[in-house]
Amino acid sequence: MRVNVPTSASATQLLRTRIGKICVAIIGTTAAEMIEKATAVVKETPFLEFRLDYLEKPLAALPKFKQFFADNTAAAGIATCRREANGGKFAGSLAAEMEILSKAAAAGFVLADLELESAEALKKGEFEKLRETGIALIISHHDFTATKDLDKIYERIAPFQPDFVKIVPTAKTLTDNVTLMRFLERMNENSNIIGICMGDAGIISRVLGLRAGSAFTFAAATPGEETGPGQIAARTLLETYRVDQVDAATKVYGVAGNPIKSSLSPVMMNTAFRRETVNAVYLALQAAKVADLLKLVQEIPIQGLSVTMPHKQEIMAHLEHTDPLSAKIGACNTVLRAQDGKLYGFNTDVAGIVGPLEKRLSSLKGVKALVLGAGGAARAAVFGLRDKGADVFILNRTLETAQKLAKQSGSKTMKKEALAKTPFDVIINATPIGMAGQKAAPLLESKDLNTKLVFDLVYNPIETPLIRLARQQNIPIITGVEMFVQQGARQFEIWTGKPAPEEEMLRVVIHSLRQQAEAAAASHAEENGASSKPVKRPKAS
Ligand code: NAP
Repeated sequence: MRVNVPTSASATQLLRTRIGKICVAIIGTTAAEMIEKATAVVKETPFLEFRLDYLEKPLAALPKFKQFFADNTAAAGIATCRREANGGKFAGSLAAEMEILSKAAAAGFVLADLELESAEALKKGEFEKLRETGIALIISHHDFTATKDLDKIYERIAPFQPDFVKIVPTAKTLTDNVTLMRFLERMNENSNIIGICMGDAGIISRVLGLRAGSAFTFAAATPGEETGPGQIAARTLLETYRVDQVDAATKVYGVAGNPIKSSLSPVMMNTAFRRETVNAVYLALQAAKVADLLKLVQEIPIQGLSVTMPHKQEIMAHLEHTDPLSAKIGACNTVLRAQDGKLYGFNTDVAGIVGPLEKRLSSLKGVKALVLGAGGAARAAVFGLRDKGADVFILNRTLETAQKLAKQSGSKTMKKEALAKTPFDVIINATPIGMAGQKAAPLLESKDLNTKLVFDLVYNPIETPLIRLARQQNIPIITGVEMFVQQGARQFEIWTGKPAPEEEMLRVVIHSLRQQAEAAAASHAEENGASSKPVKRPKAS
């Protein structure tokens, strides 16, 4: 069944010329707060959804919105007053919701969002009365548990003949995004459908949904003001993901891991693509299972992957071919999908460690290196260094793991007590110690830093306790940010065949880390009683 656009198809088309591809959801506890936020974004993104359900008295606030629309004639607003039962915050009755939406047109709103459940509960004629107010209508359905029954939901909405059909399921897997996007593609002849998957795994639909046929998508005004799980801030959608430029030819890449939400790879790689004018987009892929990820790679299709914990080892079994170092290390962090769909694996973590070292030490042959840790990153360091002829020592919390790696790689193990008396050319930290949020005690004291160079693979924070200690002793350092950028730069080159814009990548990573540190400090201050009020967390959209 298709929606036959009700009152006038041309009216809806006219409306579509007024609204953009990105609708910014505005929340706040007072109308004044919402209007202040709307005023801050309206020039960049004039299409706004006002979540009236966040207000204590939405009806009384309508005159204020009327003034906003009078002052901002280019703005196009959706009035949403979603009831609690349907995932919103409005505690009033259905009749009260209808009264608010019915008066929204007179207040300058061009669209009203009515949940399917509310629409179905209306008495005969009430829906038509809302339509008669002249406001265009969205009928929306949110599923907070799964992505299922999309066609059935559509068939429930269709008889209402709204101007827009909004279907918002939750992605529990990556391939749930494929289910939604195939649905959007099938419905393509009806261009008035909005489809988005909620959840951390749903970001694919938020970026690629427009290309699949979604009439528009929703974004948060700023990070922290999301009105639905997984929602992205408008500026991030536009500047990082360039959603307005994603077209049929845009190649899709991504970083797969679990968890992946706070990865800096998307901002770094999308910046590189933009800088080098590569028509590509890079997404954070919340992958609980490798099988789900592989299905997504073939279905979208995805042209290349950065693979991170916990999938670096497991992915190996699914690759057509891996480079010799990846095979030795037993881990792969880079996948390239060839024209024929076959997957090729590489390990650029090695280059991310060896490259910065060669820059400082020219040749690694005969260099005496101490590696702290014996996990994935340590394996890349140990095999990379051994491959270049370095003399490698391993110190790890669990001695057996160190012994095993030493045996595999032709290295030696080292005891902590011997450090003060043993000089090294470089000490490399490949443990998580020093990472933001890590509470473990430092591994080394100043007397242990008997070395010409310290390389901390940890990149968040930029200045780790180990880096600080080395600086205090005037020992040259390499930060984990350099490794992060170098491994990403090599991935960019493998995928595109172009030299990576390393400086730009470094700049954006440092900027993002500083922003994260500032946000963490602000939230810490707030927890300790500073005054700024937390925004109430919403439930849906
Ligand atoms: P992993 O496979 O889990 O290995 C962690 C290693 O650290 C293990 O050897 C573990 O020892 C040791 N370890 C963990 N907690 C410890 C503690 N409290 N005290 C002493 N040793 C401890 O992790 P990974 O993938 O190798 O990553 C390690 C770190 O490298 C990450 O935290 C990340 O910060 C950094 N890294 C950076 C980049 C980059 O691009 N800059 C890339 C990858 C990784 P046991 O064997 O005893 O468990």
